[in-house]
This record gives sequence, C-alpha cells and structure tokens, in this order.
Amino acid sequence: MSLVVHKYGGTSMGSIDRIKKVALRIVKWHNAGYQVVVVPSAMAGETNRLLKLAKDITIEPDNRELDMLASTGEQVSSALLAIALQSAGVPARSYAGWQVPFRTNNAYTKARIVSIDDQLIRSDLSSGKVVVITGFQGIDPNGHITTLGRGGSDTSAVAVASVLKADECLIYTDVDGVYTTDPRIVPEACRMPVVSFEEMLEMASLGSKVLQIRSVEFAGKYRVPTRVLSSLTDPLLDLEEETRSGTLITFEEDEKMEEALVSGIAFSRDEAKVTLLSVPDQPGIAYSILGPVAEANIDVDMIVQNQSVSGMTDFSFTVNRNEFQKVIELLKNKVIPAVQAKELATDQKVAKVSIVGIGMRSHVGVASLMFQALSNKGINIQMISTSEIRTSVVIEDQYMELAVRTLHHTFGLDQI
Ligand code: ASP
Ligand code: MG
Repeated sequence: MSLVVHKYGGTSMGSIDRIKKVALRIVKWHNAGYQVVVVPSAMAGETNRLLKLAKDITIEPDNRELDMLASTGEQVSSALLAIALQSAGVPARSYAGWQVPFRTNNAYTKARIVSIDDQLIRSDLSSGKVVVITGFQGIDPNGHITTLGRGGSDTSAVAVASVLKADECLIYTDVDGVYTTDPRIVPEACRMPVVSFEEMLEMASLGSKVLQIRSVEFAGKYRVPTRVLSSLTDPLLDLEEETRSGTLITFEEDEKMEEALVSGIAFSRDEAKVTLLSVPDQPGIAYSILGPVAEANIDVDMIVQNQSVSGMTDFSFTVNRNEFQKVIELLKNKVIPAVQAKELATDQKVAKVSIVGIGMRSHVGVASLMFQALSNKGINIQMISTSEIRTSVVIEDQYMELAVRTLHHTFGLDQI
C-alpha cells in the first residue's frame, strides 16, 4: 500500500471552510487506498498573532516561552483537521510533536530535528487511521517544547516522510508549483513539472520563497521525493491528475533536464553592498575584515577584492539589507580602525539576479551569454559570483525587473 505525507500551509488551513476542504481532499486519498499522514501549519496569520502578543509584553521575550506559545497554533489546526476528518467519516487522530515524539536539540525558535519515532504513527496507519501531526514543533532532551523556525512545517513534513520512507511528500500550498521565475514579474514564466534538488536549493536560497530552505536540504539529504502543488484546486479533482500536478523535486538528472541550459531566474532585492576603500593588500586582510563579521553572525554573500594599486586594494561584500546597520556599526567600530581603511562606501540600492541550471555544468559560455544580454540593456554589473550550476550578478536595484525579464527571455524560458 502506498504511504504519502501531505503538508498544508497556513492559507490552506485558514478557516473552518478551508479545513473542511482539506479534509475532503484527504478523504479522497484515503478512500483510494493510500495511507496518509498529514502535517498542517497553523491557521493563516496565527503564528504572527501569537508572537505579537508576547512582543506586546516585552521586546525580548524568552525563547523557550515563545516556543511554548507559538507551538499552540499548530495544535489548534491539527485538532480541527482531525475533527473535520472524523465528521467526514474517516478515522483520524492528531498528535502534538512531543507525543510522537519529534526529538530536537534545544535551540529554541530554530531547533533542529534529531530523530522521529515512527511507532505510534505506524500503528495508527495500520489500523486504518489518518494521522495528523502538528508541523513546526518538537521536544528537546529535557522535555521542553521547541519550534523549528518560521516556515518549519515544511521541514516537519519532509522529515516525517523520510522516516516513514513515504512514497511521496506532497506540499500543498497557495501556488501551483515552482516557476521559472516569479510570474508577477514575468507573466510568461512557466511552471516546472520537475526541478532537480540542487536547482531547487539555489532557487529557494535565492529568494523563491516556496519552501523553507531547510526542508529542501532535508529532502536532498534523505532523497525524499517531494512535490509542491496547489491546495486551491477542487478537492475532488481526479486523483490521477492531482498526482501529476505541481512540481516534483527529483534527484535523478534525466536527459530532458540536461537539455536546458538554464532552468530558472532567481532574484533577491534584500541586498546591501559595503566597500572598504584602500586597505593594505597583505596576508590576513580578508580575515581581519570578515572574521569579526562572521563572529557577529552576519551572513556575507558575495565578496570581491580588487587588483592592488601600489600595495593597496578595495574590498567589497554584500549582506542582507536587514543586517546592514549592524554591519556598518561593526565596521566603523572594530574593523576600519584595525585595517586602516581610508574610506567606507555603502550602497543599499542593489539587487542580486541569478541564472540557475544543472545544464550549466556541461555547457560553456552560459555566463557570457548572460553578461551580453545585460549589456544589451545597458545594465551595469557590479559584482559577479558563480557556482557549478549558478551565475549571480549584483546590479542597481531599479534594473532588477528588467534584468529578470531579459534573462528569462534570453534563455528561452518564456511560455510559448
Ligand atoms: N506556523 C509556522 C509559521 O508561520 C510554521 C509554518 O507555517 O510552517 O512560521
Ligand atoms: Mg509556509
């Protein structure tokens, strides 16, 4: 018998009406003979509402208590879904993370899953029940409730699918799959029927916020066949059709995928660039600049060090825009006095645009095609970074949409 894990996001669980629709969909799978484990998110907006209650008391609430608080959102939606399933005539039971249990470390608000016990789940499944498990939460070695970080239900679902060796993990969400780029910017963007796990990782980390990045890492590490599909279709949609819809994340690189040079265009507006002008070009300088930045837990993305002129060089890097103030203070107080930089230049009006595709591995000249397309539009490239399956550029943010559209067209991704 086939075993599947379904994950429903907050929008899908957003009201009693929607929960009843989710139940109808699950009943369809159950009646077709599937064993179903369901991982719901909290009802839309609920996690934000709960966290705000705490922030209304103090600006820095204790993380353990935040997890105790935020985890209740999923307990509500899970119980309601089990009730809806029972009302539809299907035996169902819901569990909180600690009951299964989902064991995690004790990093409150961003805990990592250590192990999942499958005994309870398996025994319920074999007695014909649908098992509903709260997403987003677990229990630490001392019995305290933990949460997995915002968007963590995706990771809960993929993790439980991996432990149960599920045939597929279906992530139901309010989009109908992963697109070649954001359709709000490029209306010609297409849904990808399949995407390789590595491409998905690049797309997710570069700002296509369909899945929590950790869930993609998890799917890759444990090779969990994972499908992103719409929860907004008719719940009674033909099951065959539903099993073929959305985007499947695959681990085998089939030939068809190799044909495509570039599979998608990712972008991020949340970039900021800082440059230390005229620092001595000598061993240890990169470490003196980026060491303190790493120590302060600030993520650095692209790094460029220029050619030195009479022993001096310029050193630039990018950070997420919401860490910009933090990095500036650190540079002014600590780094600049230490490395004797002449000047600090900053730019918050930058964006990053990337072409992504496993086809780039076996083709040369892809990056230069990208640069040519951007130059034809008069877009200046400020920084470049590459990996085996990605080339990223930093450009002025007002040209971001033009760049995305241009590249989408250049690499033949526009819907015909
Ligand atoms: N409810 C949690 C959140 O809003 C987890 C999730 O939805 O995945 O972040
Ligand atoms: Mg989500």
